[in-house]
Amino acid sequence: MRRFIYLFIGMLIGFIPLRGESQQATTNVPTPAEREELLNQTLNYAQGHEYFKNVVFQQHEQEFVRLVKDGQSPQTLFIGCSDSRIIPDLILSTGPGDLFVLRTAGNFVPSYNPEGDDGVSATIQYAVEVLKVRDVIVCGHSHCGAIEALFKTIDPGQLTILRRWLRWGEEAKRITMSSAKQGTPAQELYRIAEQVSVVLQLDHLMSYPTVKKLVEENKVNLHGWYYCIETGEISFYEPTKCRFIPLLSKQNGKDTAP
Ligand SMILES: [Zn+2]
Repeated sequence: MRRFIYLFIGMLIGFIPLRGESQQATTNVPTPAEREELLNQTLNYAQGHEYFKNVVFQQHEQEFVRLVKDGQSPQTLFIGCSDSRIIPDLILSTGPGDLFVLRTAGNFVPSYNPEGDDGVSATIQYAVEVLKVRDVIVCGHSHCGAIEALFKTIDPGQLTILRRWLRWGEEAKRITMSSAKQGTPAQELYRIAEQVSVVLQLDHLMSYPTVKKLVEENKVNLHGWYYCIETGEISFYEPTKCRFIPLLSKQNGKDTAP
């Protein structure tokens, strides 16, 4: 990655040396194949941006201007996984200014730590205390790599930061393993743990004093959602039934869940 950053900065200021000129200077100089790959990627992104600028931005220009003038006031904090297949505004048909989005590996939410200085807690605090969102959605998803990683062995000394982060999902794994029948296929265990984890992350959210206070005052609502990548369906957690129910059945007023 450092090579790509070096190349990118070099392209910007025009000092990328010609092939062979600085091979001895640093091992971070990208190879010709890497240069070509990056140029192709940059071209693709440039084309995508061109479409956005000329078509999409034009459609939303007045909205962007209004959001700059008035500032943002999203109603919802959406906490989802960093997974590239989960695109909140795409699956909810929302637009600029609608969602305040926080994405973490596994959509994990660390418990409140008054001494904490992490970006996740700061984002939650800003959304709730400054933006005063009305709803907080924690949205898990199928085939989550972070959840699957809970069930895999990571060699000591490897991925140390990720290993520490995964502790926020360990309880989901423990509950899943203790409640599942013996011999349950791994993929079924992962799907269960993905949903259990959503509920546990809501508990973590409630450890934030301000969140707890606002929820108890009915000023903030917490929601646990689960998005199935292969079907495009969202389910929501219904506490009274301890299960996830298709979101569309709620909207249509016919709760079809058994
Ligand atoms: Zn995920």
